[in-house]
Amino acid sequence: MKPRILIILGSTGSIGRSTLDVVAAHPDRFEVRALAAFSNVDRLVEQYHQFNPKYLCLVDESRSAELAERLKDEPVEILSGENDLIDMAALRGPDMVVNAVVGAAGLKASLRAVEDGKDLALANKESLVAGGPLFPPIVEKTGARILPIDSEHSAIWQVLHCGKKEEIRRLLLTASGGPFRDYPAEKFAEITVEQALDHPTWNMGNKITIDSATLANKGLEVIEAVQLFDVPADKVTVVVHPQSIVHSMVEFVDSSVVAQLSQPDMRLPITYALFWPDRVESAHGRIDWSQMADLTFEDPDFERFPALRLAIEAARAGGTMPAVFNAANEAAVAAFLDHDIRFTEISETIRRVIEASTSIGQPSLDDILEADREARRLAKQTMETIAL
Ligand code: NAD
Ligand code: MG
Repeated sequence: MKPRILIILGSTGSIGRSTLDVVAAHPDRFEVRALAAFSNVDRLVEQYHQFNPKYLCLVDESRSAELAERLKDEPVEILSGENDLIDMAALRGPDMVVNAVVGAAGLKASLRAVEDGKDLALANKESLVAGGPLFPPIVEKTGARILPIDSEHSAIWQVLHCGKKEEIRRLLLTASGGPFRDYPAEKFAEITVEQALDHPTWNMGNKITIDSATLANKGLEVIEAVQLFDVPADKVTVVVHPQSIVHSMVEFVDSSVVAQLSQPDMRLPITYALFWPDRVESAHGRIDWSQMADLTFEDPDFERFPALRLAIEAARAGGTMPAVFNAANEAAVAAFLDHDIRFTEISETIRRVIEASTSIGQPSLDDILEADREARRLAKQTMETIAL
């Protein structure tokens, strides 16, 4: 069997490293042709020596000379800057792009990959959230496929083999509820960065960990599901399931509910996407049923987690509103991580930015990029008025 040739964007992050773990476990099935990261030279050098890609890209141009110097005797081409990362997504040869970049910074590379007809194994949900309306016409033209890595969407994708699209009553998107599921409302304003970074079931990058604590992540995932599975926002229901064993479910019109289960381990959905349409022997996430505790389910609390409600409203509004939600959230999360705003001010910032924005229907890429820029500007302005 010919190895699948991969480009991995965001290789130094949590998903990027898990992807390389999966690749390392199946050396005859994959060739890593290109790796890209933001600024982590040490880890990229280490990954180079393990996987010997022909291309490396560092987005932070101030550090690319250091990368080139450290690999000067190696047969590798060093690229740098945002444009090189985007071009990397359309390299001749590879079959698949794994996009594990964080944030809307991954959008143009996702578009480039599908424009080029490559399969896109997508962890970077923000590119679908912000740029969702741009993908269907391109995918239809080039035949590219978007293969979700996000565990909930991987679950739904697997479950949808059980029925036809018109047989879906609703998608049941599970959420762990994050570290503050039971936390009293009056203590939310005092939540520290350290508390918010301590997620009960998943070990992830900082941005998505904060998103999981505010439930903005689940909101982004509602929008991601609307785009991936072409269903209206009203057909996506969020169900809080603290154990993170049921990764999502589909309720069909006959009231049958089909679910996908495993221990929380991102290597399982990554393996499914990388090998799709096949399943391979693997023990990631295997359940020991004798140890299985209770599986519980409850409704989300939209009062304590307003970011989830705002995202669902943005999903209903469509057009550029999801891009506005996403950009405001990215700006607010960065400010929270810098200790510039309180935990509760993340959703408050998003709320004010959305209130001050109007949605453009059927947006072009320029409309989306402009909405993203304007939302970040409004978020900054808002945070200056509410900051600590
Ligand atoms: P991370 O912060 O650990 O890694 C992010 C990667 O992107 C790093 O390699 C970094 O160098 C790179 N990067 C950062 N900014 C960049 C930029 N401006 N341009 C190019 N590259 C840049 O994040 P993560 O947890 O691996 O998450 C990556 C994506 O996967 C996010 O969209 C996240 O929502 C999604 N996701 C993550 C998990 C998880 O378990 N970590 C689960 C589901 C989905
Ligand atoms: Mg997820």
